[in-house]
Amino acid sequence: MDLDHDEYMELLKAQTLLLSRRKLNVSSEVSDFVGKGCLKRWQNDIWPIACQTCGKPQGDEAFISADGLFDDDKILLSLHHGKCRGSKTTPRHEITMRIPTWAASIESRGEGEDAVPLMVVNPSCEQLMIQRPAIGRSRNVTLDIFTAIGFKSSTGTVPDLVDTMEARLDGNRLTVALTAKLSGETSISAQSFTLTVSDGVRHAAQHSPFLMVAMTTKMLPLQLVELAPVFEDEDPEVVSALVPFRR
Ligand SMILES: [Zn+2]
Repeated sequence: MDLDHDEYMELLKAQTLLLSRRKLNVSSEVSDFVGKGCLKRWQNDIWPIACQTCGKPQGDEAFISADGLFDDDKILLSLHHGKCRGSKTTPRHEITMRIPTWAASIESRGEGEDAVPLMVVNPSCEQLMIQRPAIGRSRNVTLDIFTAIGFKSSTGTVPDLVDTMEARLDGNRLTVALTAKLSGETSISAQSFTLTVSDGVRHAAQHSPFLMVAMTTKMLPLQLVELAPVFEDEDPEVVSALVPFRR
């Protein structure tokens, strides 16, 4: 698939619209706790894949819960079945939840020996950590655990190399895993991501010294979407890094 950036954005929008037909239930308790504007701003960054109470598929209807405050000004949003949890709030530290589902896509860019594999990961589909300061705008801080280990907001240029993650290729299975300890709210992200890759990506992974990795919560990385544009724009909602291969 060969798309320019405008076509890519249109496709992404179409995919997002498709997913946004899901029914999200929000109680007034949750809405009052989070704040209407804040909830509206961020509820499109959570994706109903698996219920965070029972772990089974979410289906068409999801219920948003809000927990906190954590660190005085952070709120954890999460999705559940109505029968498992409903749209509720709980005081901080009184929750147990599953590790959220992650979604990732991988492709290669460039030709022959110069090909580089690119991977886009949403590390936390059904949970989102929001910071709501007393003054100023709310912020999605879900990816702060990755900026703490060297990922940086995308600037549209080649990202920095990190030594806190590594990539491994085993046949046509590619794994990216943390080698550093995450600080803070580690429960809201998996720490290892494995995908089965195409022959083209495998070839690139065998030759490239590193894998380009971008993390974001604003999309479900879908095979249908070309990944390269994610690395080409300055985007505060995407953090990226070069991850070395371990041979
Ligand atoms: Zn459930």
